[in-house]
Amino acid sequence: MKELTEQEFQDRIQAIVRAQKIFIESGIITNITDAFKLYQEVLAEREREIFITSSTGGRLPAALDKYIRPKCSKCDADMGLRVINEPKGYRNVNGYKTCWECFNCAHEEYSYKTIEEWMKELNVKSQPQPQPKSSPCGGKEDGIYYSS
Ligand SMILES: [Zn+2]
Repeated sequence: MKELTEQEFQDRIQAIVRAQKIFIESGIITNITDAFKLYQEVLAEREREIFITSSTGGRLPAALDKYIRPKCSKCDADMGLRVINEPKGYRNVNGYKTCWECFNCAHEEYSYKTIEEWMKELNVKSQPQPQPKSSPCGGKEDGIYYSS
């Protein structure tokens, strides 16, 4: 899978949210799991693999690197988020939506949260602040103003 740029990543997440809104608010589907499933069936295969970790233990898509992910409770290694596509049923008895998987010890932590909920919950790593442009009214380059 090719790595997504941050913009592509955001576009895809927004597309998923949009799709859910369309399906649910239109009344076509009332269940968010079904909406997401339909979205996956309707739209491209790649979208749903944004958060899925490589089964060979490869690195996460670069776009996910900006989020502070939970550490494994067993060994403190990085964890990756797997999307559970099975609706609640005999193959997903508890109706889990996602699962954090440890890259190191394969410990699993199942969750009822969707990837959108995780997106909102995970903190974004602090980025270096872009340099503010100097303002025409004499502001200093670093954005700090001193009174004399
Ligand atoms: Zn672990």
